[in-house]
Amino acid sequence: MQASVLDWLESSSQSFGDKIAIWDEKEEVTYRQYHDQAVGLAKAIIESGIENKAPVVVFLEKSVRVPVSFMGIAYAGDFYSPIDIGMPKQRISRILEVLQPRAVITSKELKGEFEKFDYTGKYIIYEEVAPISADKAVEKRRQQIIDTDLLYVLFTSGSTGTPKGVSITHRGVIDCIDWFAETFDICPKDSFANQAPFYFDVSVPDIYLSMKSGAPLYLVPEDLFVQPVRLLEFLREKQINTISWVPSALIVVSKIKAFRSVDLSDILKRVIFCGEVMPNKQLNIWRQYLPNVVYANLYGPTEAVYACTCYIVNREFADDEPLPIGFPMKNTDIMVLDEEEALVEEPGKIGELCVRGTGMAAGYYNNQEKTKEMFVQNPLNHAYEEKIYRTGDLVKYNDCGELVYLSRKDFQIKHLGHRIELGEIETAVSSLSDVTRCCCLYDEKHARICLFLDWDISKEELRPLLENMIPDYMLPGKVIYMENIPLNANGKIDREKLKAYL
Ligand code: AMP
Repeated sequence: MQASVLDWLESSSQSFGDKIAIWDEKEEVTYRQYHDQAVGLAKAIIESGIENKAPVVVFLEKSVRVPVSFMGIAYAGDFYSPIDIGMPKQRISRILEVLQPRAVITSKELKGEFEKFDYTGKYIIYEEVAPISADKAVEKRRQQIIDTDLLYVLFTSGSTGTPKGVSITHRGVIDCIDWFAETFDICPKDSFANQAPFYFDVSVPDIYLSMKSGAPLYLVPEDLFVQPVRLLEFLREKQINTISWVPSALIVVSKIKAFRSVDLSDILKRVIFCGEVMPNKQLNIWRQYLPNVVYANLYGPTEAVYACTCYIVNREFADDEPLPIGFPMKNTDIMVLDEEEALVEEPGKIGELCVRGTGMAAGYYNNQEKTKEMFVQNPLNHAYEEKIYRTGDLVKYNDCGELVYLSRKDFQIKHLGHRIELGEIETAVSSLSDVTRCCCLYDEKHARICLFLDWDISKEELRPLLENMIPDYMLPGKVIYMENIPLNANGKIDREKLKAYL
């Protein structure tokens, strides 16, 4: 019986001790080193006086060291939260306020950066921690973990300007990864290439599928995502047979048809994508050059670990047809609810996709109010307490009984693979003293964030003022000055009218 994800690392370090577990440009670790370094880190965490089940931050550059630190924190019985070192300082401060971490794993080089924040917890310096193969205190903590304990907290955009900490349990990850491994028949001979940052849920299967199966995980150097031919050469060189990336990363390759220069047909077995709409126009290019690959469209919010539905592409689609998001994953129920909270079963009728199952997050860390709003009582169950998660995504069933994603109900968008609440940008802009009213809309056609505001300022002038508050990917791509932003009958900004200016 499995109570924690650590069983996978225990087993892979015993069976595949000398095999590469994780590789990056500067460093690699075998499964034995992965295990031993994680146990060493856990020992350091325990010895620094950090209690069981406490939040521990990882503040490191993207590298092999990040997943190793995650497992160190898990071995200590605590839960991890990765922080992007490039994130604006104000946003990091807000995350730290929510999380109140007890310790941080960082490097000698980055310690000074972290010291600038209002943080009084312990410091564990990665390179100062020695690996150890076993430790009594660590083993005791590991044995105490139960599967409803938190494994990690990932922060996503929050409309009030404070990111929301999605809290995921060991059970959630075990469920999702078991399903994944079974569905795609993952084995030790497979090899994975990671694209997504570790603070993003799309990286979760990379870390845990490889760990469970004893397969190697290669962290693709970031600059290759702007050099598609080099990217494919990298996949060839490392003999990668499975990729699980966001569509934006796959599109980089199909846009210039990089397959004409590098043939991966004898290597690549599975191309899995999740996190945003995959346009069939782009997928068809992949399918044309690599027809024997298994393609799968996975759908899901961070609140459902990584995915809760899956569609394994099994027929032809025209370029302008939507690709279904498919069917619920095993041990997960998808309820499509209409505005009256009734179950939608009829093809073509639109409703909100709601998720039910053990894979669901335990809520938003230190945010009861938002948790209550999004994780609600199942309206179809009046007999006992049972929570469902309301995704805010509008979907329908097609004539084949498959789910099809249509749009969002609210102001959350996906831009270049990033989940963004437009409200978070509006909150940052509104804080500038010369702004009285502002509004953000997403211009799908040009894939850019459009900001309307009543301050005559250019995009370039605005940039440095926002840089400290929101990440680069949230900076508006177009800024429109309006002396009087139109209001509707309720006195609210008339978003419909503004759409005409996109
Ligand atoms: P995140 O929490 O960053 O994974 O973002 C979750 C949101 O991304 C979902 O609520 C959807 O709006 C969108 N999303 C995720 N996967 C897909 C998909 N396969 N197709 C369309 N939208 C998706």
